[in-house]
Amino acid sequence: MERKATIAKLDQKMAQVIMETILDRGPGVKWDDIEGLKDVKQALMENIIYPQLRPELFTGLRSPTKGILLYGPPGNGKTLLAKAVATECRSTFFSISASALVSKYMGESEKLMKTLFTLAAIQSPSIIFIDEVDSMLTKRNAEENEATRRLKTEFLIQLDGVGSSNTRILVIAATNRPYDLDEAALRRLTKRIYIGLPDAEARAGLMRKLMKQVDSKLSTYEFDQVVQWTEGYSSADLNSLCKEAAMEPIREIPPSKIMELRSPSSVRKVQVGDFQKVLQFIRPSVSKGTIQEYHNWHKSCGGPV
Ligand code: ADP
Repeated sequence: MERKATIAKLDQKMAQVIMETILDRGPGVKWDDIEGLKDVKQALMENIIYPQLRPELFTGLRSPTKGILLYGPPGNGKTLLAKAVATECRSTFFSISASALVSKYMGESEKLMKTLFTLAAIQSPSIIFIDEVDSMLTKRNAEENEATRRLKTEFLIQLDGVGSSNTRILVIAATNRPYDLDEAALRRLTKRIYIGLPDAEARAGLMRKLMKQVDSKLSTYEFDQVVQWTEGYSSADLNSLCKEAAMEPIREIPPSKIMELRSPSSVRKVQVGDFQKVLQFIRPSVSKGTIQEYHNWHKSCGGPV
């Protein structure tokens, strides 16, 4: 009854937008879909998953955090991690990009934010994932307009409310630009976790998984070479690289012959030369300078992982 009354009081238009576009009914990502990031997974188990599954063990001094910040270069699993956490915790998953919130719903974004937290409370336990959070939580500056300022304030109020109510809502914010974040927002995102570029082991694991989808004939030595050549590549870059390498044998087939091919096994296997070729134009999307900036920020403001 109480739940029905709360729903009736909501702004119906905003509630509909949230149910249709922000509520993700099946993120479906599993822990094992994420390569590498072992320490990060461990930190998320301790800080989110165990407390969500066994709330009675995590009270008082052991109370779980209400706000987590995932930061680091794009394309390394921040979104995937948030989705996997929602699957593992069996939580309702609301996912919104802050830049869409600012551009698409400007004027109404404050109302949308309020409704979002109310719906998340009704559907608790819930996870609210806010991607590109820097677009709404930038440090105060002269260009900041009134609407952005109000949206930021509303978000902070809602986040404080989460801390004081009995509902189980966790906010996971993600950003590629942590150094732009407002201090007040940072203070509330108490657990900050750096999601960096994949190391050699993670690159090997990801590429092995991707290349299983096509026939390839790389020796162990050649595969290890590709792993070394891709130092500095993000996981998303590796995805593009393997896709392009997998296309090379197809590109060799004259268009007139494509329709005549009898089965996928008639296509030649992917080989190391294909990787050498595509490595020339699929370059790392993140520069060394940018990685250094993350490390500097991590040292001063980041978390232990
Ligand atoms: P971010 O949110 O950090 O920008 P995403 O989580 O959206 O990056 O990752 C983009 C894509 O790259 C994913 O859809 C996935 O295909 C791939 N990817 C990124 N990180 C990983 C990872 N650790 N393991 C497996 N695939 C990954």
